[in-house]
Amino acid sequence: MTDALLSETEAQLRAQVRAFVQREIEPHAAAWDREGRAPRELFARFGELGWLGTAFPEEVGGSGGGSVLYALLCAELAQGSAGVALGMYVHTALACAAVYHLGSEVQRAEVLPKALRGDRVGCWAYAEAGAGSDVSSVATRARREGGGYVLDGAKLYITNAPIADFAVVVASTAPDRGLKGLSLFIIDRDNPGMRVGPPMQKLGMGASQMAEIVLEDCRVPESDRLGPEGTGFLQAMKVLTLGRIAAASFAVGLARAAFEEARAHTQQRVQFGRPLLKQQFVRFTLADMKTRIEAAWQLTLHAARLADAGRPHGTEASMAKLFASETCTWACERGLHLSGAQGYMLESAAQRFYRDCKVLEFGEGTSEIQRETIARTLEV
Ligand SMILES: Cc1cc2nc3c(=O)[nH]c(=O)nc-3n(C[C@H](O)[C@H](O)[C@H](O)COP(=O)(O)OP(=O)(O)OC[C@H]3O[C@@H](n4cnc5c(N)ncnc54)[C@H](O)[C@@H]3O)c2cc1C
Repeated sequence: MTDALLSETEAQLRAQVRAFVQREIEPHAAAWDREGRAPRELFARFGELGWLGTAFPEEVGGSGGGSVLYALLCAELAQGSAGVALGMYVHTALACAAVYHLGSEVQRAEVLPKALRGDRVGCWAYAEAGAGSDVSSVATRARREGGGYVLDGAKLYITNAPIADFAVVVASTAPDRGLKGLSLFIIDRDNPGMRVGPPMQKLGMGASQMAEIVLEDCRVPESDRLGPEGTGFLQAMKVLTLGRIAAASFAVGLARAAFEEARAHTQQRVQFGRPLLKQQFVRFTLADMKTRIEAAWQLTLHAARLADAGRPHGTEASMAKLFASETCTWACERGLHLSGAQGYMLESAAQRFYRDCKVLEFGEGTSEIQRETIARTLEV
């Protein structure tokens, strides 16, 4: 990824994260993937380094950096371990960002400083067995009782759930109003009405943990509702563009790891009397990988710069997420192809990247949902 136009602060953060990743993440990435978890202490390390607060202002415990710095952080972390980057991104770009954008002063002060230090970890609990792309089919109910709400339902595929101290949960306060009846709640891990299932086994992103969250007669005071009743989720979708920029950066970082692995392999692997990298097909594949990854990064950086300038950037964030995630899947597949049988073995990095990449086309809205979002701007 081109360094030329980064500011001094941006280049410094990138160098700092890269050095940390090479020293403390990359050497363990394969083992964490196999074990299905990375050390939880990483959150505290990231907090100590000020990284969790990159996209948040100082008054809530952040470091006031903005979207470009956050994009650089996500890309570098994902290059070292996509699973580690996933856990960090769900905590910051979804759980903490929802509290920041929709929370009251009291909620922000209660949740954010500890969360941005990494003392407490958050998760974002939207998906359900019947609710994926179709947000209006959320079945978890929150009914008013006494001075608060009682929640019942089950959330599926929730990243960080096994280690989370709090969850930002999407539930319907008005089932007959569909999307306009969805509200957000902050629920503490200690709430006796919330139960976290065993870790779920998944294809990739092994260093991140995922589980089901079951809510049964889960009582929450009104003061733990995030944003207005009924339109909290819609408002969150308008403001949580950081998640799409993060997912795009994340895809660029992972694609880059696949590219570097393929380059190193084809440089040392000799067939027909010379390194594979000397074969035109191999050179051209790598040239295409480099070009598309750079294009994905420039789209991502553009969306992040617009966000930092306070300019509209929703469509740009969708375009970056769409292009970067599809480029990432393509690059990881090509990377594995160039690695041949060696890449197909479970100890290879190429197969890990290949398993990790696909989810980036689902999360933060699938490719079809991004295309739909972009297509909507075509009609005037
Ligand atoms: C590793 C991982 C981590 C996750 N972490 C979280 C998390 O932390 N919190 C959380 O809430 N959720 C999480 N999820 C779930 C995520 O929110 C969903 O994957 C996402 O919402 C998409 O829903 P779905 O996977 O059920 O796909 P579906 O909506 O069932 O879609 C399946 C396919 O149909 C296509 N499709 C759907 N609707 C349309 C349409 N109208 N037009 C054309 N095509 C369509 C989709 O594009 C997709 O290709 C995670 C998932 C994974 C795999």
